[in-house]
Amino acid sequence: MASDLMDPASPKKRIAVLGSTGSIGTQTLDVVRRHADRLELVALAAGTRVEVLAHQAREFGVRHVATGADGPEALCSLVQLPEVDVVVNALVGAAGLKASHETLKAGKVLALANKESLVVGGDLLMPLASHDTLLPIDSEHGALYQCLLGEDRNEVSRLWVTASGGPFRGKGISKLRDIKPEDALAHPTWNMGKKISVDSSTLMNKGLEVIEAHHLFAMDYDRIKVVVQPQSAIHSMVEFKDGSVKAHLGTTDMRIPIQFALSYPQRWEAPVPPLDFSTLGSLGFEAPDRHTFRCLALAEEAGRAGGTLPCAMNAANEVAVAAFLAGECGFLQIASCVEAVMEGHVKERVESIEQLEAVDAQARMHARRLLGG
Ligand code: MG
Repeated sequence: MASDLMDPASPKKRIAVLGSTGSIGTQTLDVVRRHADRLELVALAAGTRVEVLAHQAREFGVRHVATGADGPEALCSLVQLPEVDVVVNALVGAAGLKASHETLKAGKVLALANKESLVVGGDLLMPLASHDTLLPIDSEHGALYQCLLGEDRNEVSRLWVTASGGPFRGKGISKLRDIKPEDALAHPTWNMGKKISVDSSTLMNKGLEVIEAHHLFAMDYDRIKVVVQPQSAIHSMVEFKDGSVKAHLGTTDMRIPIQFALSYPQRWEAPVPPLDFSTLGSLGFEAPDRHTFRCLALAEEAGRAGGTLPCAMNAANEVAVAAFLAGECGFLQIASCVEAVMEGHVKERVESIEQLEAVDAQARMHARRLLGG
């Protein structure tokens, strides 16, 4: 149990938040603020928003702080601090992998919002993790985790990962050509950071989540289904052998899955009003459009192939999304860049963090060349 890892002298869970000034980071701090009797912040790290970070450190009386300028080693030192029980990894992109690896190696609980850690390094992370030491902070995976509590994994037939469909659901390819970053950042149901908002608009986010689910729940790709649920009221579902389906529903607010990862195995009072079924209206379902939103199909293909291909695929996506946000490439070029980098990659078995860092760097160079950078 997570509680066994806590210092018996300290009744509070002591938390390090990596990426504390981003969307998940600030919402995590809000959860800590609301449950200050049970949670204590002991370490914070952020990339560039140093003033916000300093303000957070003052508010919560945090003594251990690292910024992007301190380098990746500083993050590793933070997660290894003896007073840290739980690490919330809310870094963006493959840059979060090393901290996830160090957290699990140090025997700490990893509350993981950085899904790229699992996409890129799931083969290295999962052997270090157990049911109680790796808790997903992703609404879909938090939902699946809860639906699986108390269940025999051998009786699960399929995982249904729900998708909102993003802001361009229902549009054909011809309508996507002139999409601007501000269009892609206007997500219909969730309030999120820039990178994940663009990933949601291309459906790459759902592709990354399929790979994440494969690793977290040791599930074959054939048994992980994606379904569009535009209201985002159902956060995911588990189907069992006997045809029964368990769904997780709730208000679309990331503080709920964040809080669950921090309160587990308990449940605490919600930070937001509960879902009101009498006013919810209808729930829609449809198949995702993999022809228009090719990133979903590409990510699933990378996941099935396995090895270092998801690492190369993810690196290409990160470069292309950054270029799109900077106005340096078009929306549809994100998928073509990812596809070309995947085609050029010679897959290997995953063996080490260093190997993955080298694959990541090479794929980024390839992607930048393709995008003319
Ligand atoms: Mg998600």
